[in-house]
Amino acid sequence: MFKAAYLKLTLFYVLIVMIISVSFSAAIYSISTNEIGRNLAPQSIIFRNLITDDFNDLRSRQIEESNRHLRINLIYYNLIIFIISLFGSYFSARRTLKPIEEAMVSQNRFTADASHELRTPLAAMKAEIEVALRDKKINISESKKLLKSNLEEIEKLEKLSSALLKITRIQEEKKSFENISLDEVIIEAFEKVEKLAAKKDIEFDNKLIHSKILGDHQSLVELFVILMDNAIKYSSVKSKINILMKKERHNIIVKVKDRGVGIRASDIPFIFNRFYRADSSRSKDKISGYGLGLAIAKQIVDLHNGKISCESKPGKGSEFTVKLNS
Ligand code: ADP
Repeated sequence: MFKAAYLKLTLFYVLIVMIISVSFSAAIYSISTNEIGRNLAPQSIIFRNLITDDFNDLRSRQIEESNRHLRINLIYYNLIIFIISLFGSYFSARRTLKPIEEAMVSQNRFTADASHELRTPLAAMKAEIEVALRDKKINISESKKLLKSNLEEIEKLEKLSSALLKITRIQEEKKSFENISLDEVIIEAFEKVEKLAAKKDIEFDNKLIHSKILGDHQSLVELFVILMDNAIKYSSVKSKINILMKKERHNIIVKVKDRGVGIRASDIPFIFNRFYRADSSRSKDKISGYGLGLAIAKQIVDLHNGKISCESKPGKGSEFTVKLNS
């Protein structure tokens, strides 16, 4: 599909260049032939007694010859311009369409991944219901078990659909930028994950400083909830998590450090991609998630013109660093 678009745009560019080039050539040809005629007119008047028919003949042949040369040269130059513009136009067309092609490929991949993730819980629910319907002797407790399991799948679907909505709507949130306290944002995020941490007996050590930034309060709370939630999710029980805030010139740095499973160096470049999950989170204990959290976190940080990075050692823990303009 994009090959045809490249070709069409190339031909369109070539057409524009050639229209300009041919129009200029026609103008040059017409000006120069008129100019020769105009320059020779006074000579003809002055030397009218001396000019013979033979001389007139010779002169018109010379004029015709020079016009012919001019035509050939102009055709030759137009051909060169055509060849150069063909290559130039192709590269320009590629440069113009490449980002659109990349955006479309990524959009298609996103749709395919999202559909796949949506189908998995639906398929599980369908299979369970079909089995239950085939069982003529199903009792109340078995039916309740089935409903409970279906409810869990529905909850997963709810989580996934709100994450999908979030990831597609994040760009619109720039409108609500205002002066906010980042330390308050972090406290609010911490309060949301506190219970989850308590369940695993995980202790938080928060070192916050008072600092104001321009941003969207709600999205920033969401950003730190994602990072803290991951830190809890990928840590073992009775572990410790540190939140550290510091100022560095015009930036505020927030670090979320855990002592959990860690991330392999080969996975780190991809963890901010949509739907990417490192093997450690898929296998073994099957930690729940869709690989969308860090993609949302990265979008929120990008929205604030900030930076997010990760340092990690498998088995030792991970440290996520968020840098925002103060
Ligand atoms: P998920 O829903 O899988 O947690 P995320 O986008 O939040 O999705 O994270 C992507 C992947 O990065 C996770 O699947 C996990 O492999 C890895 N990851 C993220 N945070 C941590 C962490 N604190 N410790 C270890 N691995 C992490």
